[in-house]
Amino acid sequence: MSDRIYNFSPGPAVMPEEVIKKTQPALWNLNGSGIGLMECSHRGADFLAIYKEAEATARKLAGIPDDYAVLFLQGGASLQFTMVPMNFLTKDGTADYLVTGAWSQKAVKEAKLFGKVNPVCSSENENFSYIPAIDTFRWSSAPAYAHFTSNNTIFGTQFRTEPVPPAGVPLVVDASSDIFSRPIDVTKYGLIYAGAQKNLGPSGVTLVIVRKDWVAKANPGLPTMLQYKTHMENESMYNTPPTTGIFVLNEVLKWIDGQGGLGAMNQKNQDKARPLYEFLDNSKFFRGTARPDSRSLMNVCFRAPTEAQESDFIKQATKRGLNGLKGHRSVGGMRASIYNAFPKKGVDELVTFMKEFERANQ
Ligand SMILES: *Cc1c(COP(=O)(O)O)cnc(C)c1O
Repeated sequence: MSDRIYNFSPGPAVMPEEVIKKTQPALWNLNGSGIGLMECSHRGADFLAIYKEAEATARKLAGIPDDYAVLFLQGGASLQFTMVPMNFLTKDGTADYLVTGAWSQKAVKEAKLFGKVNPVCSSENENFSYIPAIDTFRWSSAPAYAHFTSNNTIFGTQFRTEPVPPAGVPLVVDASSDIFSRPIDVTKYGLIYAGAQKNLGPSGVTLVIVRKDWVAKANPGLPTMLQYKTHMENESMYNTPPTTGIFVLNEVLKWIDGQGGLGAMNQKNQDKARPLYEFLDNSKFFRGTARPDSRSLMNVCFRAPTEAQESDFIKQATKRGLNGLKGHRSVGGMRASIYNAFPKKGVDELVTFMKEFERANQ
């Protein structure tokens, strides 16, 4: 009998159990070196091998070509909201932003500190419950780049495919909550970033994949630590990188590879979310909040008829070992975050409980 429960937390989130088990002995003694993971130098052979393997595994999984740099930074996705415009937007320039949720809005807020922002589209009119249709997109004539959020963690919506900006415009994505949950064509992007704590590992590491020739054109007059160039030229080791986080991230990447890679991961995620959405579609009590064509495979948001029933549902679920189901305060209701590492069995148990709750409360 496991002493662990089902963790539906939006992030930091559930990790593959195998990864935690492989991390435990390394914390005490890494590779028989007699030194624990947290205690070893980032310039030593043991850590450098981990670093190289993490980069190589990321490249293998997502087919990242050599003309892209793979960086492991700090500051979370939130610092990327700032670093992207700081490096690539000038005062008289315009950046195009697709506004599909709270995280996109935070990215826009930072970009406005450095230049002009053109909102390409927005779903704010319906509390971000959908991904706007392509025919509503209004690109500006020569944007410095185009930015979107591939999965809207708070509202439970997800782009089916990446938007296509005008030719030659670098596409930037905040993929924090769906990175490596499905195949991604890296060549369509100028820059991809993701905080690790949803699909890739612990908080404290940010994965950045960026086209090298674009970095070469970035604003050179910035503080050293805020230039992509610094991190690219020093292989993320200009300063001390988050070594423990990179170790765990490497184990997660190897775990994804062992699951069959991104295509297999996508299939598993589809199979995992389907029974929950099917139940929501047929329920006369619960209802999903995202428009069916925009639903996320990572964060499933739903509501019950009254707020009192919702808080009762969350309380009872927690008692049964179904934890972290409370929705974000801006949407209310419930949210089941079912990232790569979340087991299908946990979703099935949630659906069973929802059926029981519906019967008892109708
Ligand atoms: C969680 C999240 C963020 C914030 O990430 P931090 O690493 O905490 O800065 C940004 N964007 C999306 C889509 C997220 O899900």
